Amino acid sequence: MAVIGPLLVGFATTLKHLFRKPITVNYPEQKFPMFPKYRGKQVLMRDENGLEKCVACGLCSVACPADAIYLEAAENDGTVMAGPRYASVYQIHKTRCIFCGYCEEACPVGAIFMGKDYELAVYSKADFVWDKKDLLVPAAVSSPQPRAGTEAQTRDSGFGIRD
Ligand code: SF4
Ligand code: SF4
Repeated sequence: MAVIGPLLVGFATTLKHLFRKPITVNYPEQKFPMFPKYRGKQVLMRDENGLEKCVACGLCSVACPADAIYLEAAENDGTVMAGPRYASVYQIHKTRCIFCGYCEEACPVGAIFMGKDYELAVYSKADFVWDKKDLLVPAAVSSPQPRAGTEAQTRDSGFGIRD
């Protein structure tokens, strides 16, 4: 009789969980939704006209405590971004980045945001560096949207990530 009690408790526990909604995620087909404040791979933004927002001021690089950001400024002809200068080279070294978010806070024009991409594994050390093609939002995604909506949507969804 002493074993019956624990057995019933075990069965009851099993039954209780049997009809609950599963919390497992069928990764990688399904992406796990990240916490809203999660800081993943950075995203470089475009404005409402599809032009790059980064003015190559370098404040993000100065603010970075891990010295993970390298950029080169160039004169702009108006086709890349609205201002006179843009970042012809913009790189973030992912093995240095500690995802503190200081670069996002330092940017005066809202050009860089911490995204929510957590799939950061690579097969080659050459992929340790994110450049503009990895970071910049594709023009077709952000250009038709209002300025505020573009930033908020991209920031909240963590573009290129998992929403
Ligand atoms: S998140 Fe922090 S460590 Fe990473 S690039 Fe930005 S400022 Fe540097
Ligand atoms: S991302 Fe922002 S802070 Fe960094 S160089 Fe561009 S405009 Fe300046």
